[in-house]
Amino acid sequence: MSIYNHTNVTTPLPSEAKWEGLGVGLPLLDVHTHTIVSGHAFSTVQEMARAAADKGLQILGITEHGPSIPGTCDPIYFRNLHVVPREMYGIRLLMGAELNILDTNGTLDLDEWYYKNRLDFCIAGIHRLCWQGGTPEENTHGMIEAIKNPYVKIISHPGDGEAQLIFEPIVRAAKEHKTLLEINNASFKPCRGLDASHDNYTEILRLCKKYEVPVILGSDAHISFAIANYDYVLPLLAETDFPEALVMNHQPDFFLQYTGIESRN
Ligand SMILES: [Zn+2]
Ligand SMILES: [Zn+2]
Repeated sequence: MSIYNHTNVTTPLPSEAKWEGLGVGLPLLDVHTHTIVSGHAFSTVQEMARAAADKGLQILGITEHGPSIPGTCDPIYFRNLHVVPREMYGIRLLMGAELNILDTNGTLDLDEWYYKNRLDFCIAGIHRLCWQGGTPEENTHGMIEAIKNPYVKIISHPGDGEAQLIFEPIVRAAKEHKTLLEINNASFKPCRGLDASHDNYTEILRLCKKYEVPVILGSDAHISFAIANYDYVLPLLAETDFPEALVMNHQPDFFLQYTGIESRN
């Protein structure tokens, strides 16, 4: 039985892929999700935590968009994260942010004070709404600068084609700096029109397998029902015969130890 049968909402499956048979354990964490605070998502933090608990997760990460995305929260939201309990409904909550990589220097769109004092962790990614790109080499440099930032633990959707990138140096930098590359489920939704995703993520997985670099699957859920939905990316793990040991989502202790993430309250 699919683990996604917990809800009454049916998500169209791109394939018959299930966790069973892929050699990957059931997901115990999802750390790339958004709530109504991001301005274009549809569930509250409590609804998200409840759904994550119902799906059997141990860790849920909430990562609202950084200030450069229209309609997202004011930075005062991040300042007040100390009010949020880091345990809800028996799961561990990590309160973070999805920052924007703004340019080919790897500039991020939130002051370092927030990473140092309030956020449990940061993920960072390129969003075309606020990205000043250049050549593939320059874009790659920008992403690698973000990878080097010790507060950035995950690069969100590196394979969605929002910028032309060269993946080999990115994968090698991710290994060196222990920054995880995300295999992002939402990048594959047909309505997104991110047609490069299949080829790009396949290449990222092949390189991560070759260089033995862990990856993390991210749902990028913008509504509670989508938490830990990895239906689009599971077939890629099978196609690339990706090693189970290099997937973080069923290894919460390894994830916390590898990234050094700690809750702030
Ligand atoms: Zn994103
Ligand atoms: Zn996101």
